[in-house]
Amino acid sequence: MDQTLVVYNSLSGKKEVFTPLLPKHVGMYVCGPTVYSNVHLGNCRTFMSFDLINRYLLHLGYKVRYVRNITDAGHLENDADEGEDRIAKKARLESIEPMEVVQRYTVDFRNTLAQFNTLPPSIEPTATGHIIEQIELIKKILDEGYAYEINGSVYFDVLKFNEDIPYGKLSGRKIEDLIHNTRALDGQSDKKNPQDFALWKRAEPVHIMRWPSPWGEGFPGWHLECTVMSTKYLGESFDIHGGGMDLKFPHHECEIAQAEAINKKSPVNYWLHANMLTLNGKKMAKSTGNNILPEEMFSGNNPIFSKAFSPMVVRFFMLQAHYRSIVDISEEALLASEKGFKRLMEGVETLKTLSSTTDSETSFDVEGWKSKCYAAMNDDFNSPLLIAHLFDAIKHINTIANEGQSIQEAIKIELEESIHAFIFDVLGLKSETAQGASKETIKLESTVTLLLELRAHAKENRDFATADRIRQTLVDLGIQVNDTPEGATFKLN
Ligand code: AMP
Ligand code: ZN
Repeated sequence: MDQTLVVYNSLSGKKEVFTPLLPKHVGMYVCGPTVYSNVHLGNCRTFMSFDLINRYLLHLGYKVRYVRNITDAGHLENDADEGEDRIAKKARLESIEPMEVVQRYTVDFRNTLAQFNTLPPSIEPTATGHIIEQIELIKKILDEGYAYEINGSVYFDVLKFNEDIPYGKLSGRKIEDLIHNTRALDGQSDKKNPQDFALWKRAEPVHIMRWPSPWGEGFPGWHLECTVMSTKYLGESFDIHGGGMDLKFPHHECEIAQAEAINKKSPVNYWLHANMLTLNGKKMAKSTGNNILPEEMFSGNNPIFSKAFSPMVVRFFMLQAHYRSIVDISEEALLASEKGFKRLMEGVETLKTLSSTTDSETSFDVEGWKSKCYAAMNDDFNSPLLIAHLFDAIKHINTIANEGQSIQEAIKIELEESIHAFIFDVLGLKSETAQGASKETIKLESTVTLLLELRAHAKENRDFATADRIRQTLVDLGIQVNDTPEGATFKLN
């Protein structure tokens, strides 16, 4: 398909043709979760957005190295370097080790994303696994003169950096505005200027997550890990950096400053930001309590929705919006997605049953349709438009089925291939009736086992008429029965 992928780059504020640094290869870094609590549905939306992007790049034939970190240290309660470490706080409240907190919520995160059928990243590095590299990076920034040490902490000197290299490129914030708008220091902080940010923080005696460093015992600042891990695994400059819109400032702005301070070049060619999921019109967030957990959604056990919604219905709901649009989750919207998802999956099944001939009169411009599907995805991953095109094809399939017509064999094959590729590979949906069927299979197997036990019993009692009747009935139903010296076995066809 001779088309060009265009992506919206938050750095330029424009759609740009995507050209990777190395032909056919893509390096993509996405900020992962801070593992101090269960991921809520809002977090999941961001990771599903980047799953769509990863899947489409893979579909286009790129070899993608997808790095997504786990933040297991350094993220304080307040993004302005204040408050307790989120993980240490949870550990204190529950009287468990910080690493127990990390383990519990990392497992939850991976399980949850697997339920949403997201592909795992190629590398999933942790902040605590890269303390040495973080210390080395701080030393380099100090050597460049863009950081200062004070009372065992090291801060990035934003004003000094801005004298040589402009700060604020991504968020569009001007340094003068930052100086005016950043909250004045409260006397507790060691920072020279309020807009400076921590590279290393001195650990107070009560702080349990601590590591030795040239500046005394402490812990790394939150922004540092992403610079260290992205450049370690993807190089000083790489193709795509992603994350939620709310990470643009200060997190990503600080990442750019850290990398540019030592490498004097832009670390990332394309910055991609996914928009927020809202509930009742407000951002879904852990801190405000305005959130819902995926498990509460799947079980229906929540005070917000009157029924349960399955992982694939929720995924489909998310993909029906463009990743850069805000989406409000509501019962009405989910019910509509549930219907739509069912229609899509039924369409896939109907296509299989269509009779095909070489001389069918029905026509469908499958090449033109495919080209529209690619055009949608090539236009900054426009999944809602792709879904609209998929429904066009389903409508066509249903018409053929309802009118008892046949479809041209070549069209059927091509349509089947493309529909599968778009629905299952690119959108990452999967049929949930397959899961339902396996439950049915389990029930059927138990029933057949019982019938074979009754048959064995009948044989023991020399009631061969009943034994034969059971066998014949099963065989008539397509269930193979094999008598072995150990007893009868069966196979469902
Ligand atoms: P955190 O664990 O808080 O660092 O967040 C993990 C990811 O979830 C980040 O990329 C956030 O931008 C993203 N995120 C947080 N809240 C929402 C939301 N309401 N909608 C979409 N993404 C979110
Ligand atoms: Zn990050």
